[in-house]
Amino acid sequence: MRVAVFSTKPYDRRFLEAANAKYGHELEFFTAEFNANTAPLAADFPAVCIFVNDNADAKALKIIASKGTKLLALRSAGFNHVDLQTATDLGITVLRVPAYSPYAVAEHAVGLILTLNRKIHRAFNRVREGNFALEGLMGFDIHGRTVGVIGTGKIGQIFGNLMKGFGCQILAYDLYPNADYAASGVKYVDLPELFANSDIISLHCPLTPETYHLIDEQAIAQMKTGVTIVNTSRGALVNTEAVIAGLKSEKIGYLGLDVYEQEGELFFEDLSMEIIQDDVFQRLLTFPNVIVTGHQAFFTEDAVQNICETTLSNISDFEQGLPSQNEVKAPQRATSK
Ligand code: NAD
Repeated sequence: MRVAVFSTKPYDRRFLEAANAKYGHELEFFTAEFNANTAPLAADFPAVCIFVNDNADAKALKIIASKGTKLLALRSAGFNHVDLQTATDLGITVLRVPAYSPYAVAEHAVGLILTLNRKIHRAFNRVREGNFALEGLMGFDIHGRTVGVIGTGKIGQIFGNLMKGFGCQILAYDLYPNADYAASGVKYVDLPELFANSDIISLHCPLTPETYHLIDEQAIAQMKTGVTIVNTSRGALVNTEAVIAGLKSEKIGYLGLDVYEQEGELFFEDLSMEIIQDDVFQRLLTFPNVIVTGHQAFFTEDAVQNICETTLSNISDFEQGLPSQNEVKAPQRATSK
């Protein structure tokens, strides 16, 4: 199948070409992000392949549908960047990669916690400058602490299990608590109880209208002083202004972000020679107890291989008219009687 692949970085191309040896699709790589301005590049491509910060809004989807696109293949699990209702109305099938390596993301969340707590980022710089002083590097034992996991799907469960390995108690919150996970010694509680009792809170739920700014001023007010907050899920789960206020008042002890609500303007590009205009983001970077990584939690060899393999296999299934468990559909509209 002819596929217009957007937001292609050299590593996407490398891994997609390697995986495509088995599938034989005709891949055309565009470095441009997908949005309404770049959608005309996909004219006459039956399939369009996009990544997390592309914007498949109604305008962009109408452009590709009018030029013959029938399939939108996401190289991601999340689909909050796709107007699913418009895709359904236009007859565009949307296929995603529901799981490629939940370990990659969960392990990155643990990495952020360890780095923040033990100040490894600061120690790295100090030692290279011949500064071996320990003042300012003191951390806390993770063993025995309480960890709150919000969203106990694939990634949240693995993250919770890793933290159990450190000897932590796990509190969990999910719209749909998982009985097997509860039986493994995890305690499901409501959000206020999780906020009030957790030393470390990690977000692993999707971005939906209900979870938008889940971590806001009211949520932070309920947390323990000195709490560690980690977000490797989606940026807009966290109200950035509210966490900045929480960091300034020292209510928040540590903040680890792999995602940021306005990351579309910044992430995945080398802006080291540019003047960054986002003052909120720049303020975040001034705190010594904040670490931001640029949406790299998924970025392991294993995960990228799996993303490419499943994406191409999704495209083949579509081409052969096979039903796919990886299809995402708009919620059914309520029918009027
Ligand atoms: P999943 O679908 O397996 O699990 C999500 C869980 O969240 C489910 O158990 C669901 O019931 C729960 N949930 C849904 N709405 C909720 C709500 N309102 N409150 C609490 N819980 C709710 O997904 P996953 O594979 O574990 O991925 C979790 C998230 O991680 C994804 O939505 C995605 O945004 C993010 N992610 C980030 C990266 C990265 O590189 N940073 C990579 C992959 C996924």
